[in-house]
Amino acid sequence: MRMPDFVKVYGDGGSRVNATVITGKRGTVVVDTHVTLEDGKALKDMAVEASGGRPILAVILTHEHFDHIVGNQFFSCPIISTAAARRCIQEISSERLPEGFVLTPPTETFTGEMSIHIGDMTLVLWSDGGHSPGELSVFIPEHGVLLTGDNVFNGRTPYVGDADVPKWLEVLTRLHAMGPEVVIPGHGPVGGKEILVRQRDWLEAFLVLAQDCFRKGIGVEEAADKVVAELKADPARRQVLAEGIRKIYERDRR
Ligand SMILES: [Zn+2]
Repeated sequence: MRMPDFVKVYGDGGSRVNATVITGKRGTVVVDTHVTLEDGKALKDMAVEASGGRPILAVILTHEHFDHIVGNQFFSCPIISTAAARRCIQEISSERLPEGFVLTPPTETFTGEMSIHIGDMTLVLWSDGGHSPGELSVFIPEHGVLLTGDNVFNGRTPYVGDADVPKWLEVLTRLHAMGPEVVIPGHGPVGGKEILVRQRDWLEAFLVLAQDCFRKGIGVEEAADKVVAELKADPARRQVLAEGIRKIYERDRR
């Protein structure tokens, strides 16, 4: 895996979110705006520098979760998301907002697929869902670069509290079949397409274990303990794992 020099990732390679700056001949596109106002501001500065005097054409939000959108207010360009993500962002409750935060919803939305042409390359966006209802993926076919949003957590337990796990598995299979060379996850280090496989394997094991617990009449809390023990999940994520399991139980009950 070799990161092309027109892509810059602003993240710590660990638990915090990855925001990405992509610069083409016509200008720069920023994907996600980070988790704090300080990071959002620093990201904007980084984008201006990377652009080499070209305009910042757009911000793309991979999904509606708060840690991906806090820096929106620093960007005056169009902000693009799926229609589902915009609906969720508009409903963010004011109690959770940091001081100085101005809710800045997306200005353009789509469902299905859209393309952004930035001169020498294309950004193809798919409204995928999976990790969250408003999730999208970004692919640059000319260079085999894929941004998965939170449909990939590389090297850490994914947040599953908002997830549609069967759909998430389908998305990962499709993204892998496209044969990307560079995969930029929502959280964790950048990798190749093997990180799609690892994420899919873990999620599939999670789904199978949850469905098995459901069939055996094991309660949600105990099932979450099993996931932590058997799938080496982060114990700090136990509560959101339980939320994800509850959703799987509700689905199987239908
Ligand atoms: Zn997320």
